[in-house]
Amino acid sequence: MRSLPQAFERILGAGGVLDAASDLDGYRGDLAVPAGGDIICVVRPRWVQQLAEIVTLCEREGIAIVPRGGGTGLCGGATPVPGRHSIVVSFERMAAIRALDRSSGTMVAEAGCTLHRLHEAAAEVDCLFGIDHGGLSSQLGGNLSTNAGGNNVLRYGMAREQVLGLEVVLASGEVLSELQPLRKNNSGYDLKQIFIGSEGTLGLITAAALKLYPQPVAQVCACAGLPSLDAVLDFFGEARAALGQTISAFEVMSREALDLWFAHAGREDQPFATLTPWVVLLEADTTSHRFDLAGALEDLLAATSERGTVLDGTIAMTEAQRRRLWALREGVPVAMIETKGSLKGDTAVPLSRIPRFVKRASAAVTAVVPGCIAVPFGHVGDGNIHFNVLPPPAMSAEAFSARHGEVTQAIESVALSLGGTVSAEHGIGLIKRDALARMKSPAALDAMRALKAAFDPANILNPGKVIPG
Ligand SMILES: Cc1cc2nc3c(=O)[nH]c(=O)nc-3n(C[C@H](O)[C@H](O)[C@H](O)COP(=O)(O)OP(=O)(O)OC[C@H]3O[C@@H](n4cnc5c(N)ncnc54)[C@H](O)[C@@H]3O)c2cc1C
Repeated sequence: MRSLPQAFERILGAGGVLDAASDLDGYRGDLAVPAGGDIICVVRPRWVQQLAEIVTLCEREGIAIVPRGGGTGLCGGATPVPGRHSIVVSFERMAAIRALDRSSGTMVAEAGCTLHRLHEAAAEVDCLFGIDHGGLSSQLGGNLSTNAGGNNVLRYGMAREQVLGLEVVLASGEVLSELQPLRKNNSGYDLKQIFIGSEGTLGLITAAALKLYPQPVAQVCACAGLPSLDAVLDFFGEARAALGQTISAFEVMSREALDLWFAHAGREDQPFATLTPWVVLLEADTTSHRFDLAGALEDLLAATSERGTVLDGTIAMTEAQRRRLWALREGVPVAMIETKGSLKGDTAVPLSRIPRFVKRASAAVTAVVPGCIAVPFGHVGDGNIHFNVLPPPAMSAEAFSARHGEVTQAIESVALSLGGTVSAEHGIGLIKRDALARMKSPAALDAMRALKAAFDPANILNPGKVIPG
């Protein structure tokens, strides 16, 4: 075991292996579970063949491999588990854009490219990459492995819908390379989809062929204040009728979520004068100069205000104003992540059941911890409400954290009773395995176990994640 770092260094060269205790600290977890079990070292391959050799060696020695992207995951997926000799594979040095093609609207990128870099690369050829969320330092491999969602799912779909092909290192050390950027390809099983969303438990993603979209030529952004979640759903229906597929984001924030961000930021940047219980951020864009997007948005706000659905609102007239509105939405998860003791949820329910879900979940959490504060917000257009909860003012963060399990279970039970899911976009990782067991049928769990056994018979790839014990 002691000679393993040297063996890896022979494969990777100088600088490819980190094993000093001080270097390892930044690689032991993600935002949900920052400090996991011990690791032997961190390996940082540059080329897919180097990674294939490392995996072959680990398979022979029975060493567990924890793949790691930007470490921004929210369910402990990149956290090593105790009780296994483990290494972390970091993709930070595999970050090349291998190909960028404007005419076919495709890009081949390596797993370590950050989301920020992917946006930049797409813009270089006047295109847009469909995944957009606040975790800009997250990497392509992490986004695909968790099948990330984000703000633009309504328009472009989740991570799996951005992928035309994948390159993956299998547990055997073989490289599965299917990177052809084909829009149509019905040649047997669609293997790439098995790895997307599998959180590093079935294979290590090294590169992907990705879809790009034309860069919009016009964009509008507005915030609207509404009295209730029923009004939010009415407004969504009206917005779809008026703006159709141009809607790229339809996000909702509760008053509690905005207050949390204002307290965290130290300034009250209210979008408009009326303090409404719910605020929607709506963005739409078009690639056609002929569609009067601004006019359609103004008509929508005028009609819904007249009917009393919308109580107040504002339209961003400049890019700076648009950024100011988005800063509200992006600030809420930042404030949640940085507030000690806060509980972060990721449930989704069918759209029409959102008002019932929020009402019942609010009652359920206060029945468990009286006085706790529900802070729902999220991608309401996708039914994905992050039902987050803060401790009661008089309770310490530590005491509330000790109750997180019970509170989470109460929220998830409500979501499941309404036909929802325990994980809309963050994944399962370490912390939601029990919830997955409650949600899935025995047949579904058996099928997942059979897949894991087929792809990783020695259980070396991210062991202890996703599949309930
Ligand atoms: C401010 C903020 C806002 C966010 N908003 C959203 C949001 O709106 N929607 C959303 O979905 N997420 C959001 N996230 C969460 C996060 O950015 C995503 O879950 C992201 O997909 C994780 O990417 P990562 O590179 O950080 O992965 P990590 O956290 O490093 O890893 C995530 C999982 O992927 C595995 N993995 C990583 N790389 C590979 C690879 N190359 N091959 C195989 N497995 C791999 C890991 O083992 C782990 O299981 C947000 C995060 C932040 C900080």
